[in-house]
Formats: sequence, C-alpha cells, structure tokens
Amino acid sequence: MTLPIIIVHGGATAFKTKFHSEILKAVERAASQGMCALNNGGSSLDAVETAIYVLEETELFTAGRGASKNQDGEIELDAIIMDGNRLESGAVMAVQDIIHPISLARYVLERTSNYQIAGKGANKLYNRMIAEGYRKAIEHTRTSKPQIAEGCDTVGAVAADLEGRIACAASTSGWPGKLTGRIGDTPIVGAGVYANEVAAASCTGKGEQILRITMARMAVYHVEQGLDVSNAAEKVMSELRQKTSGEAGLILADRKGNVTVKYDTPHMPTAISSSDSKVLYSSMTPKWP
Ligand code: ASP
Repeated sequence: MTLPIIIVHGGATAFKTKFHSEILKAVERAASQGMCALNNGGSSLDAVETAIYVLEETELFTAGRGASKNQDGEIELDAIIMDGNRLESGAVMAVQDIIHPISLARYVLERTSNYQIAGKGANKLYNRMIAEGYRKAIEHTRTSKPQIAEGCDTVGAVAADLEGRIACAASTSGWPGKLTGRIGDTPIVGAGVYANEVAAASCTGKGEQILRITMARMAVYHVEQGLDVSNAAEKVMSELRQKTSGEAGLILADRKGNVTVKYDTPHMPTAISSSDSKVLYSSMTPKWP
C-alpha cells in the first residue's frame, strides 16, 4: 500500500438494513475528509480527529449526536486519540453535554500534561478549550433517532501520513443502558486503541472483553513481532475468542500503509482512503486485504 492512508470504521455489530447505504456514505465521507486533512498538510492526528468528528456529527452511531443514554437516562461519552511516534494520548471519559469529545481528547493531548480526564473535570476543560478558541463551540442538540444498531457502534480511525507517522482514535457513548459512570475499553490506552512507531489499532465490540486481553496493544505487538497486519489482526481476534466470549472487530495499520479490518459480527462498516482523497474501498461487510 502507499502512504498516506486512512481507515475508518463505524462499529462491529448488526445494523438495520434500511440504514446501510447512509452508514456506508458516512464512513466514506469520514475517510475522504480525513485524507483531505492529510493532503492539506495535516498530520495523521489531524486526519483521525477529522474522521471521528465527521462520524460524531451524524446521528448514525452510538457516539456524538447519535449517543445513547445510560441507565439514568444521561449521556456520557468516551473518546481517545493517540500519537504513535510520541507514544502520547489524550482521552476523556464520561463527559456530558458535548457532541465532539474527540476534539476535547485532542486538547488533552496537546494542551495539558495529563492523558486522561473524566467527568466534571472534562467538562471544565471543555469550557477552557472553547474560551481559548482551540475548537469552536457546537450546539449539543440530539434528535434521538431510533436505535439503528444492535448493542453499540463505536467509531474509530487509524491513519498514517507520508512519513509513516501513525495515529489512531475512537469515540463512543458505550453500551445503551450502561451503568452510570461505566468506562469501557474505548478510551483506555492499549485496550480500545494503541499506536506506536510501528503500527496502530482501533477496536470495537464488547468493551469488558476487549479490556481483558488489551486487544489493541496485542494487535500492534503481533506486528512488532513480524506478522503482517492481516495475520496480526486475525491472531488477536482468535485470542479474544479463545480467552473471552467477546464479539469484536478492529482496524489495524502499519507505518508502511498496510491496513486491515477483521470482525466476527454481521457488519463492520469500513472505508479506506489513500492519497487522492478518493475512497479506495468501502463495505458494510469488509474483506480487506
Ligand atoms: N467497545 C465499546 C464499549 O464497550 C462499544 C463498541 O465498540 O461498540 O463501550
């Protein structure tokens, strides 16, 4: 594969058929806008933040405007972004009343000396981010579309820029009806996502099971040990199956621009875009490579 490259997913789950074309268009738009950021001189971090932002803006996924409520009827969002070359990340957990936790996660990474901020502290930081003009304030309206997916459909992205610097990101409201304050795998470094100078992964599925095997870190480790991305992803999926009852999926990319997607759910909407910002590949049931 060639660099730069971005791969984006909209959750490993089962989606109602009548929404398939809308969902596919959304992941395609996210991948091509992420690539646009790279083509305009942006970094792989800019690309993954852009892609996740696009998906948070739709109401199709259990993230951003499409977020689902916890058992107390409130929305609590988790998001993370990680820079593989710096081995640094920014995450927010159980944050309320915002649409784009991914931009707040980026702010944590770039403008604080901490990596993980939860709850009220994250909302306080949001106000600081807006006051500083780091990102614009967005109305947090939601129209509460009916649920489109079974369970949960977290969104994720992995990108590698021209120099092979890799970044990954993810955003979710977690499982509908979750315990208030529950944090899944998504914003946890090594579980939901991981990036280093060799490869990066973004996982989706049953968070409690993904956490048990630190799935994203293991996927990247298998690449470090010499497996190609496809075999590394296959291996970590089989480890998840053997050690837990988890259903999941992941996207994985290496610094040379090789990408893969593996999942054991009915769907995992995925789009890949390369240097000309066009969509190279997209599918509700991807098989790549
Ligand atoms: N892993 C997410 C969580 O457990 C859900 C998902 O990926 O759809 O919160």
